[in-house]
Amino acid sequence: MPHNPAPDFFDEGTPCAVLTTEPVGSGVLDYLAPEGGCWLGAFVDVPLGPRRVVGVVWGQAEGKFARNKLRQVIRVLDAAPLRAELRDFLTRVADYTLTPLPAMLRLATRVPGLGDGPATRKLLFRGPDLPPRMTDARERVLAALDSFGGAGLTPGELAQAAGVSGAVVRGLVKTGGLVEQDAPRDQPYAPLNPALPRSALSDDQAQAAQHLRDAVTQDKFGATLLKGVTGSGKTEVYLEAIAACLARGRQALVLLPEIALTSEFLTRVEGRFGARPAEWHSGVTVTERRRCWRMVAQGDAQLVVGARSALFLPFRDLGLVVVDEEHDTSYKQEEGALYNARDMAVLRASLNGAQAVLASATPSLESWANAASGKYARLDLTTRFGPNTLPDMRAIDLRAEELPANRWISPSLQSAVNARIQAGEQALLFLNRRGYAPLTLCRACGHQVGCSECDARMVEHRFLKRLVCHQCGASAPIPTACPACGAEDRMAPVGPGVERLEEEARALWPDARVLVLSSDLFGSARALKDHIAAIAAGGADIIIGTQIVAKGHNFPLLTLVGVIDADLGLSGSDLRAAERVFQLVRQVAGRAGRAEKAGLALVQTSQPDHPVIRAILSGDEEAFWRTEADARFALGMPPYGRLAGIIISSTNMEDAFALGQRLAMQAAPLARIGAQVFGPAPAPIARIRGRHRVRLLVKAPKGAPLQAALRAWVAPHKLTRDLRLSIDIDPQSFL
Ligand code: ADP
Ligand code: ZN
Repeated sequence: MPHNPAPDFFDEGTPCAVLTTEPVGSGVLDYLAPEGGCWLGAFVDVPLGPRRVVGVVWGQAEGKFARNKLRQVIRVLDAAPLRAELRDFLTRVADYTLTPLPAMLRLATRVPGLGDGPATRKLLFRGPDLPPRMTDARERVLAALDSFGGAGLTPGELAQAAGVSGAVVRGLVKTGGLVEQDAPRDQPYAPLNPALPRSALSDDQAQAAQHLRDAVTQDKFGATLLKGVTGSGKTEVYLEAIAACLARGRQALVLLPEIALTSEFLTRVEGRFGARPAEWHSGVTVTERRRCWRMVAQGDAQLVVGARSALFLPFRDLGLVVVDEEHDTSYKQEEGALYNARDMAVLRASLNGAQAVLASATPSLESWANAASGKYARLDLTTRFGPNTLPDMRAIDLRAEELPANRWISPSLQSAVNARIQAGEQALLFLNRRGYAPLTLCRACGHQVGCSECDARMVEHRFLKRLVCHQCGASAPIPTACPACGAEDRMAPVGPGVERLEEEARALWPDARVLVLSSDLFGSARALKDHIAAIAAGGADIIIGTQIVAKGHNFPLLTLVGVIDADLGLSGSDLRAAERVFQLVRQVAGRAGRAEKAGLALVQTSQPDHPVIRAILSGDEEAFWRTEADARFALGMPPYGRLAGIIISSTNMEDAFALGQRLAMQAAPLARIGAQVFGPAPAPIARIRGRHRVRLLVKAPKGAPLQAALRAWVAPHKLTRDLRLSIDIDPQSFL
């Protein structure tokens, strides 16, 4: 704690500290306040070397340089100052994740034209006439514009959304297919009305909603795990918490793991509150992002629906954060600042005197344990809403099925699908593997085609007619001759991916409409959303999907889920392998029978007696979590101990190893807090993009000051440009 709290305002010419987004020193540099002075938290332009960069007035000057050596802030930008609680949040996340502050500020300022004042700009809208000559490209432009629901776009945005050149867009303007209009920037969002009538709630729902409303009304921090089976009405319940929050004049944020889920949610918000909320994710235009950022700061966006980075929006008065599907692994950012949005949502709520609600049918063990220890409140919804019941779950023992080579749909599963098709219902076949085949093998010499840059096998994508590396994205044509021994026509795909499963399904059911849902098969989130809507409307008989289908889409006609390989992932060495399989299979199974029709989930496995498979089938979730919790507790593993993953990478393997060894030998700062170091060892993926990877794992007791110890531990080791070290606190991925 500094002795003198920073003043709120710096008079012209007085020194102040400014945090910039540039990685110079600690990122905080001293400047003189500009003409007219500046507020603490103000966004400013400052000179840095020959450049001009954006910064935030961060506090009292550090005073390392004489006043006459300091340069002056150029100007204060036209944006609401960054509030104390957000500055505090950025500092805390930086400390927790060991991320430099400038990188944190970049997360909070990812908006174009941040300091530009409100003005009008030219946007393109649909014109009165269709152009005399339509082309494919022109069709695409008009369709792209329509897909934004009547909103105007800049020419650049429109060309990008349609995947055409600017010339096509300009051509359409000339022929009257598009018209230019002045549109004000950054309009406030339509007000949401929390007092509109809502659906009558069941007793369980009403109780849970009342609990959340009471919590929100106290205007102080608290966290609640809202655990409810799929279709129990979790969304319905947390919408009531949002209503209470909006009624108090405070803002609310809902995080969703998948942007394809937002459209269903937006529709529900509109139904409940009479207007649509603000959106913040990679699928919205740059113009909309700017608008969202500014309106959030001004308090003119009451509710934001967003991806994890929405946590860094400059809310004026955040009263509630909902993390839906809180167990979802995509909440962990795996590049740059390695933060877990679920945990940071709770931190943000605590700094804002806000409530955090974590919703899931299959919570993470972390949240389950926090509820068990009383740190979080817990609300349970145990039945589906209305007449719906949970699907029946049964195993198909693959050892007892006659499965020919290169076939993955067992006769039992096949006949179950037949029955659904005859009844005019839908079946979902789930396989968590993108592409056609995970492995391409030479039958002459046994060579497996790998990526030249990574220690990973190339995955055949027949749809793209290429082999693709899932680590680095590199691709190559499918070879006809073996790259190792040169034998012609002996290359064979091994194992199934969703594309291969599709081939099998089409052969088994030639008259059925088969549709594959895999995140890599669609050019854009919008295309994926359209497919999901088409499926929900009955546009397919058989859906083949990767884990993307596990994420809460609502398919009313879907009554059968077939899990092709429940054993996938069970054998992984990953700490959370059991938890993941359990969550994924239970989530996917939960897709069946949401509407008025009873559902069935068939789980193909060769290990029907495996404890995880048994827990999945019995549905005894508490027993599963208790067993998992006991096992982790006994080993001191999270959530009962703490982990940090250290990844060292270099183009030179010896260098990476040598650093790893030095770290392992000089681990006194860690020993002092009772932490252990494991490694160095080659990472499971030992090379990515040409860089060799070495891992160490640090395990510490729960209450230990891990971050400080880690800092002291790595500080003496100088890194070169070729030698990188990253620290992953609470790692989710061990690859
Ligand atoms: P969850 O989020 O737990 O999966 P949802 O809130 O999406 O559950 O509810 C599942 C379905 O049931 C949705 O279509 C929703 O509209 C409907 N539903 C849930 N509760 C009610 C209610 N009280 N009144 C009317 N419909 C409801
Ligand atoms: Zn690769």
